[in-house]
Amino acid sequence: MPVQPRADLVSLPDYVAGRTVPGAIKLSSNEVPDGPLPSVARAIAEAATGLNRYPDPSIGKLAARLAAKVGLPVERVAVGCGSVSLCHQLMHAMCAPGDEVVYAWRSFETYPIASQIALAEQVKVPLDANHTHDLDAMAAAVTPRTKVVIVCNPNNPTGTANRRAELDRFLDRVPSDVLVVLDEAYREFVTDPEVPDGLDYVRARDNVAVLRTFSKAYGLAGLRVGYFVGPEQIAAAMRKVYVPFSVNSLAQIAAMASLDAEPELLARCGTIVAERERVRAALLDAGYEVPDTQANFVWLPLGDAALDFSEHTLANKVVVRAFAGDGVRVTIGRPEENDLFLHAARSYRRTS
Ligand SMILES: *Cc1c(COP(=O)(O)O)cnc(C)c1O
Repeated sequence: MPVQPRADLVSLPDYVAGRTVPGAIKLSSNEVPDGPLPSVARAIAEAATGLNRYPDPSIGKLAARLAAKVGLPVERVAVGCGSVSLCHQLMHAMCAPGDEVVYAWRSFETYPIASQIALAEQVKVPLDANHTHDLDAMAAAVTPRTKVVIVCNPNNPTGTANRRAELDRFLDRVPSDVLVVLDEAYREFVTDPEVPDGLDYVRARDNVAVLRTFSKAYGLAGLRVGYFVGPEQIAAAMRKVYVPFSVNSLAQIAAMASLDAEPELLARCGTIVAERERVRAALLDAGYEVPDTQANFVWLPLGDAALDFSEHTLANKVVVRAFAGDGVRVTIGRPEENDLFLHAARSYRRTS
């Protein structure tokens, strides 16, 4: 008998990343089109000379900067290797085998993977008819075994966001011993003032946490750094299950340099938001259903035509992210990239 890993991993879904196709435009991973700012690239290059040393294991300087930025004690912050890593830490920190995690579906594909690895029971609550989290149904799905409820706001891959009044009502309903985690990877692209800043809830309530990342608006997807802000005891547990040294020195330096350059980076988000509105209007005009989006991507609920549509855009040299039988997510890129995508979308003839 050959050596074998855990038997239950056979059923673990693979994390499917957006495809990269040489020569084609990549609108499949919700990245921003521009690379790090020159000031950030310079900081990374300078830090490269010190790579014989281990990174700061406590990620102390960056954590302090983030604590100051959000106006909360540093004890309430935990830095990790991107929100994907933080999701895994969250499950390890919160769930013993058999504990329940409630999240919406379809949502971010890390949630089922991280939950299953931690042997948590997954309760998936379908999105509503508007492709938005059904918060009433999610509150109703909470049982005495529930430890965590994840709300992805705005939701990946649909771009839809829950508004303040419904989140207030939802948080009033969730028991105080259940942690509600707001995954706000796309927060910087939100323009509707009715979509609340999750940090306001973290400040006001003892059972709410927020996940943020440097991968999207800050343009550092390749360096892997994100952070958690939440109750002090949960942040402490997140640090306990952190893989030592995994947030590397370059990531720590680059994240701090990006905080220094925040106004410039947020201005770039404004350009993307303007393009988002233009692309959505053009798609609506072409006859597509496109849910309201508060992120840097649009969702086309094409159902059974999703794969066919993505093959068509690929033939037009544009890579999008298809979810078979469900829909297609298209990242907002540069204006000329978006034009190529729109050209492909307009020339698509549905066959199924
Ligand atoms: C992209 C994304 C993240 C960020 O992942 P990183 O690991 O920080 O790159 C987190 N949550 C959601 C919902 C995302 O779409």
